[in-house]
Amino acid sequence: MKRKWGLLSVAVVSGVLASRAGGITINLTYRAAGESIGGVATAGAAPTNATGTGSLQALVEAAADYWEAVFTDTHTVSIQYGWASLTSAGSHNLLTQGGTPNRELTGTIRFDNDQSTVWYLDNEPLTATEFTTLTNYTTDLGGGIMNVGREYTGATGAASEFDLYTTAIHEIGHALGLSGANSTFINVAGSDRTVTLGGASFAGADVPIAASSAHLDLDHALLRSNRPGGVRRFASEADLLTLAELSGFSQINFAAAVPEPATAGMLMALSSAMLLKRRRA
Ligand SMILES: [Zn+2]
Repeated sequence: MKRKWGLLSVAVVSGVLASRAGGITINLTYRAAGESIGGVATAGAAPTNATGTGSLQALVEAAADYWEAVFTDTHTVSIQYGWASLTSAGSHNLLTQGGTPNRELTGTIRFDNDQSTVWYLDNEPLTATEFTTLTNYTTDLGGGIMNVGREYTGATGAASEFDLYTTAIHEIGHALGLSGANSTFINVAGSDRTVTLGGASFAGADVPIAASSAHLDLDHALLRSNRPGGVRRFASEADLLTLAELSGFSQINFAAAVPEPATAGMLMALSSAMLLKRRRA
């Protein structure tokens, strides 16, 4: 119930009064050093070379809030996460999937702690004041001119390092359908590396998928395989619609995909209240 209050309030603040019938729920479980992250790895300690004063837990919870506001279908996915040594910045693993439509039900996310990734831990992730420029990228993938990238650049200070908030949003995005272990992804994009949109928006657009991983082959997409340091990305229409196509999400709050600067302060206040209220498994 408290979740509904939080989401409704965000919708009012952003001027969106779409009717809601639940909304996805992302259950998060932080695994502390020494605990198993879903059998995938044993969690380690936080790296000591990060910049910023935020925390992994707060940023992953903020990332979950982001997706819960974007997809308003009824669905629950449970994710265990923690620090671990990786050859990349972040890594997602699907543990179980099922239902109709097929969706990931449980999974894990690991964040690199071997100091090779110098993280930026934003203590106010719902404001992007540490970045100077927001660029929206568009292209026509066959269904009309579509947004394919929402990217903040021009980072200053601590934010010049690798943005963990973006990585958290990216990795949870994998748990919402774009996974090499997701049977729908395998069926739809496994061979031709394309997801053709068939929903209400941009029908017929062919979203290109990377040749050898479950990522969008679009230069500035949130779900691209890589990005530079000092950059914050949010889900583009291509990201949102690809996940919707793969997981059968029919309700998308596009306006929630990029927090508006004018409402960021209010969203931050609301999010703080929500974080206090959020129940952790
Ligand atoms: Zn990825």
